[in-house]
Amino acid sequence: ADIILRVEDLNMYYRTKEGNVRAVQDVGFEVSKGETVGVAGESGSGKSSLALTILRLLPNYSVVERGRILLDGEDVLSMDEEELRRIRWTKMSFVPQASMNALNPVFTIGDQIAEAVLTHRDVSKGEAMEMAGSILDVVGVGRNRLNSYPHELSGGQRQRVAIAMALVNNPKFVVLDEPTTALDVMVQAQILKLLEELRSKYDMGMLLITHDLSIIAELADKVIIYYGGRIAEMAPSVELYGNPLHPYTQALLKAFPDIRAKRQRFSFLPGSPPNLANPPPGCPFHPRCPYAFDRCRTEVPGLREVKPGHWVACHLY
Ligand code: SF4
Ligand code: MG
Repeated sequence: ADIILRVEDLNMYYRTKEGNVRAVQDVGFEVSKGETVGVAGESGSGKSSLALTILRLLPNYSVVERGRILLDGEDVLSMDEEELRRIRWTKMSFVPQASMNALNPVFTIGDQIAEAVLTHRDVSKGEAMEMAGSILDVVGVGRNRLNSYPHELSGGQRQRVAIAMALVNNPKFVVLDEPTTALDVMVQAQILKLLEELRSKYDMGMLLITHDLSIIAELADKVIIYYGGRIAEMAPSVELYGNPLHPYTQALLKAFPDIRAKRQRFSFLPGSPPNLANPPPGCPFHPRCPYAFDRCRTEVPGLREVKPGHWVACHLY
């Protein structure tokens, strides 16, 4: 498959008063064109930080220690602001968490989407409006709402507008952070259906960050289970659900035998996820793991490919 995003040995931390908060450690994976990769983890696992690192949207108290991020073969980490402006929205785009509430209340949605075009393309205002109208049709809001203000739309429609804004410049790769959180179940299902349609229509790679396993089951081709700032397990969805290897993944799936049921959360496990400012030594899961043995308390398990495409970080394998 054509690889659109390749992440290699990525390591990032935040400098804080409590010390370095390591949210991304030894992370590597690939996203192909037309592929949806889901990143699932409890809140505080660092999954949003992984997204922000790839997008180069980190705050200035963060440090990317090492690693590579290749977007369509171009090294994102070595880009200056000018080069980042060139690829943002046009090659790599973002639907942030709670984006439906981030629309500017004083501008029409047509103006806001057109603005996203005008800052990246050399087109007239009229052409930008035309593009805004077409993408509003595509996402099911309709060009007749070009002159509407955000408050005149429902939450689901505003989320569609946020998605339209991310897609209007035809990016090859899109990151979506909790794209359906805060929407009711019916609207969630509609947004997921829309994302599925858009993915096949535009053949883009999608990275879907969520703490909701049912969303991953619905949309993702490949799943990354993220724990304590690291990849615990990574496999094609069917393989991961059929043959989970990491004790954390096994516990998740045991707690949620019907993976497609709605609103499945991670908050079932006894104990709490590691404090990323002061993680336990060895395997980050060892304080909660029923199989932990001596080596788990001292040595971090590396991510190993135990069968083709199925990776796990656990000393049992
Ligand atoms: Fe459990 Fe040890 Fe595997 Fe970590 S490395 S998941 S503690 S068995
Ligand atoms: Mg988050």
